[in-house]
Amino acid sequence: MSNGNLILILADQLTLTQPALKRAQLGVDTILLAEVAEEASYVRHNRHKIAFLFSAMRHFAEKLRSAGYRVEYIRIDEGIDSLLAAAIKTVAKHGLEQVLVCEPGEYRLLDAMQNQWSETLRVPVTVLEDDRFLASHADFAEWAKGKKQLRMEFFYRKMRERYQLLIDDGAPAGGKWNYDSENRVGWRNQKPIPPRSQPTDDPITQEVIATVEAHFPDNPGDLSQFRLAVTADAAKAEFDWFVTHALADFGTYQDALVEESPWVFHSLISMYINAGLLEPLEVCESVEKAWRKGECSLSAAEGFIRQVLGWREYIRGIYWLLMPEYKTRNSLNAKRELPSWFWDSNTDMRCLSRAIEQSLDHGYAHHIQRLMVIGNFALLAGLDVEQVCDWYLAVYVDAYEWVELPNTLGMALYGDNAVIASKPYAASGKYIQKQGNHCKQCRYKPALTTGPEACPFNSLYWRFIDKHLDAFGRNPRMGLVVGNWRKRDPDEREAILKWADQVLETVA
Ligand SMILES: Cc1cc2nc3c(=O)[nH]c(=O)nc-3n(C[C@H](O)[C@H](O)[C@H](O)COP(=O)(O)OP(=O)(O)OC[C@H]3O[C@@H](n4cnc5c(N)ncnc54)[C@H](O)[C@@H]3O)c2cc1C
Ligand code: SF4
Repeated sequence: MSNGNLILILADQLTLTQPALKRAQLGVDTILLAEVAEEASYVRHNRHKIAFLFSAMRHFAEKLRSAGYRVEYIRIDEGIDSLLAAAIKTVAKHGLEQVLVCEPGEYRLLDAMQNQWSETLRVPVTVLEDDRFLASHADFAEWAKGKKQLRMEFFYRKMRERYQLLIDDGAPAGGKWNYDSENRVGWRNQKPIPPRSQPTDDPITQEVIATVEAHFPDNPGDLSQFRLAVTADAAKAEFDWFVTHALADFGTYQDALVEESPWVFHSLISMYINAGLLEPLEVCESVEKAWRKGECSLSAAEGFIRQVLGWREYIRGIYWLLMPEYKTRNSLNAKRELPSWFWDSNTDMRCLSRAIEQSLDHGYAHHIQRLMVIGNFALLAGLDVEQVCDWYLAVYVDAYEWVELPNTLGMALYGDNAVIASKPYAASGKYIQKQGNHCKQCRYKPALTTGPEACPFNSLYWRFIDKHLDAFGRNPRMGLVVGNWRKRDPDEREAILKWADQVLETVA
């Protein structure tokens, strides 16, 4: 009689319909979930992320047990170092015949599973494609084939057509594919921001929080503020709250930088979709439904759907298309050491201290904070690409390499040879001032470029343009800015560059 197979479930694969679980035979196979030190500590992960995943895994294991599955659950205090060690132990314990696992979201682990595990385990290991995404590897490779440029916008249009989202009579709803230009309003305290609900901490979560505090005392993350949902039902309730209370303003203030609120009108669902507690197509369909019922504008619905159906799938497609070579790229040769204040938010640049403080405390920052505040500074200061990517991977609850790396290395740091961005997302302090209200509380002035009161972003911006003048001069989208710099008085240019060097020595 067969002893059955091992169905290995990783921390971000908590979906009942994921491919390995679909193959599980009730009463025959053994399901394994494991909290292991290697995965939890290869970068200094935020404690919110570790607590969220451990609690969600424990809840998911309970759900599987009550559905009748045989589940082995290994806790962090059992001291099993790696997923492979956890699999070896479980295969031996039950005499299992093969391992089935849904592909992980990281090249390093996939490579190990495909090329080393079977030999060590002495049973076959089958890695199944993760079909919880809306574009398969083959779909993306087919779309990318023969294209000189892989622009998200064209991929997104194909996806809209394929899933018939916001399509009326074969054409984009409202006549346009993209309403981004309506979604860039800066924050001037226009309206109250609704307070977020607080998911209750059940006993499982409370136990996990105590464990994480004991095992990861030096990691970032203030667990007294833990507010994350840890089951699919609770994540759905969080998403429904967003649709009812925040979606209507999501589009308009998508790019706003707000001193008083880390969340603004954002959905706060990336950690749930990425871990498998919410499904991407369902959230897009719900948002379309809300628009069709008149509960939000088309620009809000389109803005949201573009992020999930467009950006999220596109970013994943780029990762798997170009790895492992993608990770070695650093096309602007950025190598400056990461400043220590990235780990304690102790800088007098107000926009950065707010964005970094909440990233460390909650494991969350919204897109414009990640891209145009923290990422922008790292780009202008030429911070080391690998160190910056490791920082992003460590601090955010939603971070997995497949989504963190292209966003950081490609989109924010322009380090991938212009695969993702056709021009760098570089901006001076004036952009940050336009988008929000941090500058009012800052000791620097966004209108000044040199001198002790000058906003550091300003001189760094021109230094960045000057440093890459030849390359940017060949980019038609950078023509205006390069022309402006070249037209400036040479003495003025020299003064700005000299000041920028001083800024780098002091703030970076
Ligand atoms: C430098 C940098 C690093 C990032 N790292 C991550 C990461 O590790 N994990 C992650 O999930 N997202 C990452 N993002 C994308 C984006 O910032 C987050 O998905 C978003 O801020 C999550 O907050 P939210 O759920 O409130 O999103 P909302 O603003 O409400 O957007 C809705 C959803 O759209 C999706 N989405 C939006 N933009 C992107 C994008 N560029 N890539 C992928 N999905 C997107 C997310 O699922 C998100 O939940 C990064 C962006 C930048 C610029
Ligand atoms: S003045 Fe410059 S450093 Fe200060 S908050 Fe504004 S943009 Fe940031």
